[in-house]
Amino acid sequence: MVAIVGRPNVGKSTLFNRLLRRRDAIVEDRPGVTRDRRYGIATILERQVTLVDTGGFDPEAEAGLDADILQQTRYAVEEADLVLVLMDAKEGLTEGDRLVVETLRRTGRPVLHAANKVDGPTQAAEAAELHALGVPELLHISAAHGSGMEELQQALVDTLPVSAPVAEAEADEEAPIRIALVGRPNVGKSSLLNYLAGAERSIVSDRPGTTRDPVDIEITTRSGTVFTVIDTAGVRRKRSVEPGMERYAVLRALRRITEADVTCLMLDPAEGVVEQDAKLAALAHDTGKGLVLIFSKSDTLPSPVGPEKRRLTQDVQDQLRFVPYAPLHFISSRTGQGVARLLPTVARIHRESGRRISTADLNRFLEDTTAAHTPPNVRGRPIRLFYMTQPETRPPTFILSVSSKKGFAESYQNYILNSLRKTFGFDGVPLRLWLRRRKNRKKIKSKKRRPKR
Ligand code: GDP
Ligand code: GDP
Repeated sequence: MVAIVGRPNVGKSTLFNRLLRRRDAIVEDRPGVTRDRRYGIATILERQVTLVDTGGFDPEAEAGLDADILQQTRYAVEEADLVLVLMDAKEGLTEGDRLVVETLRRTGRPVLHAANKVDGPTQAAEAAELHALGVPELLHISAAHGSGMEELQQALVDTLPVSAPVAEAEADEEAPIRIALVGRPNVGKSSLLNYLAGAERSIVSDRPGTTRDPVDIEITTRSGTVFTVIDTAGVRRKRSVEPGMERYAVLRALRRITEADVTCLMLDPAEGVVEQDAKLAALAHDTGKGLVLIFSKSDTLPSPVGPEKRRLTQDVQDQLRFVPYAPLHFISSRTGQGVARLLPTVARIHRESGRRISTADLNRFLEDTTAAHTPPNVRGRPIRLFYMTQPETRPPTFILSVSSKKGFAESYQNYILNSLRKTFGFDGVPLRLWLRRRKNRKKIKSKKRRPKR
């Protein structure tokens, strides 16, 4: 996770948007949701990087107050693997910049410094002033015009620590299934954790080599499946709630999600689904993680099958409609009701996320799907779908070779994604569908020709 910090107006969100710009070929099964521009997943030199625009996390902060910038910086340091300090070359050096740089220097955490708004040689000369900060390297960039982006991207991936757990787990299917337990304060996370830890065999382990002291809890079920609930320190040990703390809790949750295989998002039945819940669900979706939705405190509902439960289920369907694949559980950590089904669901989702469908099966699927519902027309003729493959898992990613990407209506893409789920399952995991245009070469010219195999 990379946090971008800096004074207001230095260009954080401009840079953020530029780094996040996605390859437009990507299609995701997440209809109708306004993207929150405060954090997102960028692909930087083929690495998935979670970017956070910390400025946007503190909308109530007084513009430019040094104390606010410092607070923002401290939170960023606590949660991010790498902090990118952005300064304004046009403005030159300010006291705020100095404070941020000093604070970060003392933490010893990985930091990159960049002078933004270096739009041309004039500003490059002005940026010289910032070198007085004595930082080891000062990148010159223009977020608005895109100059210096290659150097910046290279520096980011070079400085970002390698996320070892992810690489290992992919190599080893027997590795513990990593769970991110997230949700707003008081939703019942630590109660659930205590219940699970008490009911099953569990050990608490400190993760060595990190300064943030995340504590993982390893739970082995009776059937022998091992789960790791990651970074539980923040879940269990209640901190005194400082002003601004709740806003930054989302940062911590975000980091957990990026490190996990499956996200368990806890929802409060007394309040229903709120905006922050949607943000967390969106993040699990965007990072391609499995997702389970959990209403806690079911014992407080008047009846186990009553209208309350239907109303909450409907609320989830409305507010979280971009994750229709996520199963919904009702549990109570007080009575234990529903808890036993939780870990098996997580295990199933993890399995589903790693499933690979053979090319033969996919192309049979494609034939059936296009036969049932003809693809949209381009210049009077239906777009041809040549073949489909699944090159990746976690999340399952499909490539569809087509004669035209342009006329390929989103509704038809969604039809294919929905049909994939109907045919193959993939409960609890987001799917990716990429379109690839195949040139109309001679050998596929015959109109009658159907994709085979
Ligand atoms: P933030 O408050 O740090 O997120 O800053 P913004 O991204 O909102 O940018 C503040 C202002 O600076 C906007 O008017 C941007 O258009 C402008 N800006 C951002 N990057 C550049 C740049 O590289 N060059 C110039 N000249 N202006 C920029
Ligand atoms: P966290 O902040 O998400 O970790 O939430 P906690 O686990 O600390 O729970 C917050 C409050 O909700 C505490 O007072 C708990 O006793 C209560 N609580 C948690 N789970 C349940 C539940 O299943 N039923 C009821 N009735 N109360 C619960």
